[in-house]
Amino acid sequence: MLPLSARLELRLRQQQERGLYRRLQVHDAAQGPCVRVGEEELLNFCSNDYLGLAADRRIAAALASGARRYGCGAGSAHLVCGHSRAHQELEAALADWLGRPRALFFASGWQANTATLAALLEADDLVIEDKLNHASLLDGARLAGARLKRYPHADMEALQRRLCAEPAPLVVSDAIFSMDGDRADVAALTQICRRHGAWLMLDDAHGIGVEGEEGRAAARWSVQDLPVLCVTLGKAIGTQGACVLGEAPLIEALLQFARPYIYSTAASPALAHATLTAIALVRREDWRRQRLAEHIAYFKEQAQRRGWPLRASDSPIQPLMVGDAERALRLAERLRQQGVWVTAIRPPTVAQGQSRLRITFSAAHQRDQIDRLVLALDRAWDEVMR
Ligand SMILES: *Cc1c(COP(=O)(O)O)cnc(C)c1O
Repeated sequence: MLPLSARLELRLRQQQERGLYRRLQVHDAAQGPCVRVGEEELLNFCSNDYLGLAADRRIAAALASGARRYGCGAGSAHLVCGHSRAHQELEAALADWLGRPRALFFASGWQANTATLAALLEADDLVIEDKLNHASLLDGARLAGARLKRYPHADMEALQRRLCAEPAPLVVSDAIFSMDGDRADVAALTQICRRHGAWLMLDDAHGIGVEGEEGRAAARWSVQDLPVLCVTLGKAIGTQGACVLGEAPLIEALLQFARPYIYSTAASPALAHATLTAIALVRREDWRRQRLAEHIAYFKEQAQRRGWPLRASDSPIQPLMVGDAERALRLAERLRQQGVWVTAIRPPTVAQGQSRLRITFSAAHQRDQIDRLVLALDRAWDEVMR
């Protein structure tokens, strides 16, 4: 057996040779449309800060006052002595906003998803998921020791066939798919699940705050049709963490059985307090959603005119399909040289031959910044793709 040091060296070299090596980029100031990375001033089109709230002063002020009142650290896991009034108030605010009886706050979407699957499923349970679900939903099934079957992306007939072949207690889907920006057919999912007596779990990481009146499009599904709703707080909401919402038995089961929740220190109470302010802003500042929708429509129109291969998406996630990983990297580099920051998404995040630029929009962008993106893309696309 090769020692670990030699194995790591080999695997890291292979990663580089395949053009898949990842590196951290340090930026120096707040998240926003313009960021500084070292000496570079970059226009940012790769953030999930869809409503432009990540650096909002009112939320930052709430964080500071939360820290003065509750301190910074939670001190322990929620079930020991880490569950503060701030956490409790945040859960009540989320339940009220999304029209659910109960809510449970988690430190991240990753934790919420893995914890929920691990709590709901028992060893050898069958769980059925969309092929393109977020990694945390796949890993949660593994953590539960469940049998995971995936249906081809968005293929409702394949899902039905699976459920006819063998009943499953739980079906899981992203609401908006994080690398494609397209939507699950939630109406069809609820019908199929009802017919087959399965619970539906929906991960609305990218839709929460962005869609519908007061940003709560997911709340239009009743808790009977959608027993498990997961939303994350680190994207449009502008802070950090996640929340699982449903009826009391779901939340109680999470408290009893969700190991990633039980054995992890609670997220900062100051952060929970700040998120209360964030949610109030998300609910009432409708202009952010309107502005974002205008940006998305404008960019799609510009892209269509130029024949760029976008995926069918009307969400803030607009994937420009490139195919080859190396070319996707070169495109991103050429954009970077023109002061535009977009990430190239490569395997294993997406399938082989499906590399892309994942362009994301924010209410904080200005129209002329989108014009600059289009201009830079025009040049880069000509050089790399023709
Ligand atoms: C980002 C994301 C998560 C993870 O949430 P974090 O709070 O970043 O850990 C889960 N599901 C989906 C679909 C996501 O896009």
